[in-house]
Amino acid sequence: MSTDIPDDLGVVIKKTNGIYTVYLNGHNLDCTLATRLRKEFVYEADNPHAGRQVVKAVKTSSHVDPVAVGERVQVRPADGRSGMIVSILPRRNRLARRTAVPMPSAHPFEQVIAANVDQVVPVFAAAQPPPKWNLLDRYLASAESLDLPALVCITKLDLVQDEGGQVEPELQAAAGVYRKIGYPVLFTSAASGEGLAELRQALQGQISVLVGKSGVGKTSLLNALQPGLGLRVSAVNPSTGKGKHTTSYAEMYLLDGGGGIIDTPGVREFGLWDLDTEDLAAFFPEMRPYVGKCRFGLDCQHDEEPGCAIRKAVMAGQVSPHRYQSYMRLKAEGYFYDH
Ligand code: GDP
Repeated sequence: MSTDIPDDLGVVIKKTNGIYTVYLNGHNLDCTLATRLRKEFVYEADNPHAGRQVVKAVKTSSHVDPVAVGERVQVRPADGRSGMIVSILPRRNRLARRTAVPMPSAHPFEQVIAANVDQVVPVFAAAQPPPKWNLLDRYLASAESLDLPALVCITKLDLVQDEGGQVEPELQAAAGVYRKIGYPVLFTSAASGEGLAELRQALQGQISVLVGKSGVGKTSLLNALQPGLGLRVSAVNPSTGKGKHTTSYAEMYLLDGGGGIIDTPGVREFGLWDLDTEDLAAFFPEMRPYVGKCRFGLDCQHDEEPGCAIRKAVMAGQVSPHRYQSYMRLKAEGYFYDH
């Protein structure tokens, strides 16, 4: 990964208590952030995006951290082990979510989870806990909204294989739905090692973000992909099938052959909440060709309206009923809220 990065440019791989670990020229530096990078400008106008701006005041931002994992930064090294981040390069993209509001009257604010990502990798367990396809659809729509490719990873495959190694038909069928849309679906197991070579290859040279609830097997996958990472694996509660939170902040793990994996704390959704004006169907690739083709055109809610092209496609088997339901649910739930 370091090959395409100039000398004083590093990548933020971890944040803890105001200290940013920056990977620079093959070393990790513990960095602070230059104070001016923490300032927020307060403008005369109500709209900070308005044409001419007069800065009224400058205040220190307490709730928005301007630096995310994956950020490309310029560093002034102090010694071999520490330094200061003096500038942040423009982001190619960002994965963000709404954070809890500090007070009921306050507006929720955006928390950037990761910056400069190449692909999103939703991780689900084949069992314990069972896969939640609705949640996968949410992740995929988020990735689409950011124009990022997604690679679906199903792990703990060993739990649903028979003695001959055959995977249960329901899982095969579900994976088939996503493959047909164009999403690669990899079957893996950290326990048996199955599919790891393929996964490693798909991650090589890319900055990938793993998304998935705790307990699905992300840490075990990371450990199996790169022995030596030594990450802590949580025990799944046998009755609930849920794991304890072991990852409490985003962190990037660098892969030996280039590339990095960003592991995020149980992120349910990201990226979608600022898209309330768009037709969500555009983020379901198999529905995209029908957007605007309904009798009511772009006004169609794809629900009960006559002449809805998307519902027709569901009837004709071109869009899976399950994906259509996910779409309707995402729309109804208010996909821009973190809940
Ligand atoms: P994370 O919270 O997503 O990072 O999940 P962990 O990697 O901590 O794994 C949660 C639980 O699932 C642990 O008890 C692991 O031992 C178990 N587990 C993880 N991967 C596999 C697998 O491939 N097969 C089986 N049978 N169990 C697994």
